[in-house]
Order: sequence, then C-alpha cells, then structure tokens
Amino acid sequence: MITASPHARLSSPTPGWRELWRDAITDPVELLQAVGLGGRADLLPPDDAGFALRVPRGFVARMRRNDPFDPLLLQVLPQLAEHDQAEGFTLDAVGDMASKAGHGVLHKYDGRALLIASGSCAINCRYCFRRHFPYGEEIAAASQWHEALAHVKADPSIRELILSGGDPLALATHKLEELTRGLTDLPHIIRLRIHSRLPVVLPERVDDAFIGWLTAVPLQKVVVLHANHANELDASVDAACARLRAAGATVLNQSVLLRGINDDADTLAELSERLFAAGVLPYYLHQLDRVQGAAHFEVDDKRALALMEALRARLPGYLVPRLVREVGGDASKRPL
Ligand SMILES: *Cc1c(COP(=O)(O)O)cnc(C)c1O
Ligand code: SF4
Repeated sequence: MITASPHARLSSPTPGWRELWRDAITDPVELLQAVGLGGRADLLPPDDAGFALRVPRGFVARMRRNDPFDPLLLQVLPQLAEHDQAEGFTLDAVGDMASKAGHGVLHKYDGRALLIASGSCAINCRYCFRRHFPYGEEIAAASQWHEALAHVKADPSIRELILSGGDPLALATHKLEELTRGLTDLPHIIRLRIHSRLPVVLPERVDDAFIGWLTAVPLQKVVVLHANHANELDASVDAACARLRAAGATVLNQSVLLRGINDDADTLAELSERLFAAGVLPYYLHQLDRVQGAAHFEVDDKRALALMEALRARLPGYLVPRLVREVGGDASKRPL
C-alpha cells in the first residue's frame, strides 16, 4: 500500500486511482488558486454549510481558468446561497434516505433492486441529497451484503441488481468481485447495473483490474454515468468509456438539470452530442431533488419542459434524455 504522503504523487509516474482519490482538493482557497481565481476570496462563503468541498485534480483541470461561472466549478464550490431556507427543500428530499442507510438495499421498483454499495464519493456535488447523509464508509460492507443478497436471492421477480451509493466504484475491485460472486449462481438475475460518477470525475478508476472484473461478470452489464456538462468529458473520459464498452457494458448517462450550469438548450444539446461521441447515450435528465441547501440550482418545471421541447426539435430522438423527477412512493421515476 502506498501511503497518503503527498510525495507519493510526485514520486510515482502513474499514481493509481486510490492515490488520486486521496489527492483531491478539499480546500476552497486552493481550488480557487488552481483555476486562477486566487484573488477572489469574495467568492467564498464563511463556511461549507456542513458539506465539505472535495474534487479530484483531474476534474479541476477541465475547468476554465479565471471564470467564476465555470459550469464545473459551480458544481463543487460552496456557495453562500446554500444557507438560504427555501420552502419545500428538506433534509430528506426523496423520503427514503433512512431506509437506504439502514438496510443497504432498496426494492422500490419492479424487477430492480438497488444496493447502496458504498457511501463514499470522489467528488462532493453541491446539489446532491448526499450532502445531508455523510453516511461514512462502505455501507453495504461484507456483513450487510449477506442480508442484501439474501433479499435478492429470495425474490425471483428481481431481474436486475443495481449498484449505487454514494459511488459503488469507491469499493475496491476485490470487494466488487466478492459481491458479484454471490450473484452469478442466481438464475433470475440477468443484469448488473452500476451507477457511478467515477468514470467521469476520476476515469483512472476504470483500470485493468476493474475491466478484468467487469469483463468476467457473466451477466448483461449497464453502466450509468453522471455528467452534467460537455466540459466534463475529455480524452481520459473517452478512454474510460471505450474500455467500459469493450468490457461488454452498455453505457448511459444521467444528468441533473442545474440552474446556471446546464439550463439552456445549447448546453444540453452539446452534452448529448459529446456523450454520443464517447459512445454514451443520454438516459435521464433529472429535476433536482429538493434538498436543503440546493434551492439556488432549481429550474422550474415550465422552463424544464420548454428546454426539452427545444432539444427534441434539434436532436435525433436517441440523443434526447427523459426528463424525470423522483417522487417517493411512485412505481417509477416520474416523467414530466
Ligand atoms: C432510480 C431507481 C431505480 C432505477 O430506475 P430506472 O428507471 O430503471 O432507471 C431503481 N431503484 C431505485 C430505488 C431507484 O431510485
Ligand atoms: S452521489 Fe453522485 S451526485 Fe451525489 S455527491 Fe456523489 S457523485 Fe455527486
């Protein structure tokens, strides 16, 4: 194991994803300096509203310099507006976070069980429900997997297991191996789906060991990425997507509609085109979960629908994501 010493980064020509993860920027002042905004202390709120800044350096490198409105910067930089109290924005926006953290498995929708495989993320997105659930390390750690897998095993209506989080690819590859070993002898499970932002924010995670594991999983495989803006994709992300596809995965993307970041038709169209260039199809465009501290990102439904109409008018149908909202108690994501 390489230690977390900063020198490990300097002495190793190709640091592994764990080292890059640990080397993320967590200091807002350092982040501003890195993007040429070191003189703009006025951009920083007095505190982080209880949710620490965290952003991998490779993602920072894709931010425009000297631009306080950069769409990648705005996804991670704490804002004064996070302290605004807005009606309807609550600590538990989707209404099932407690059960998520408790059992590690969510079986809300027919045929699909979602396993909270990890509570960790390499990046802290300011709009995320997770800001109120820093539920620590590896939720469904080995002991709980048995419970979660027992549930999946006992219910033949479950065709697809979804690994989510947090970010499931925060788990070491040998942990993923352990998890899927228990799955592959279940005849009713035909698909494994992985929801992860890591191939976008830390594409080094898609390393040889990971690809070896994914290739060997004898199930249909779907990877759902999470990118909100075309600038999040660069050559390193293209390479990660190509490797996922070569491993037999269908690669999709979900985004969150975010005011000031991607809420115009040009930006959304460019995102779809850029995803497709990487071999990725747009899947969902989510209306924001109404979590406390994220109200300044909200785009109202009327405007969201107008954006979708503009997208439909200019893109092929397969590049138009479905606009949805997650509503507690519904049998699926709710289309708008
Ligand atoms: C979003 C979600 C899914 C997946 O829904 P799809 O519409 O199939 O993408 C499954 N389970 C839970 C609990 C979810 O929140
Ligand atoms: S769960 Fe996804 S959106 Fe939330 S902080 Fe992690 S990577 Fe960002």
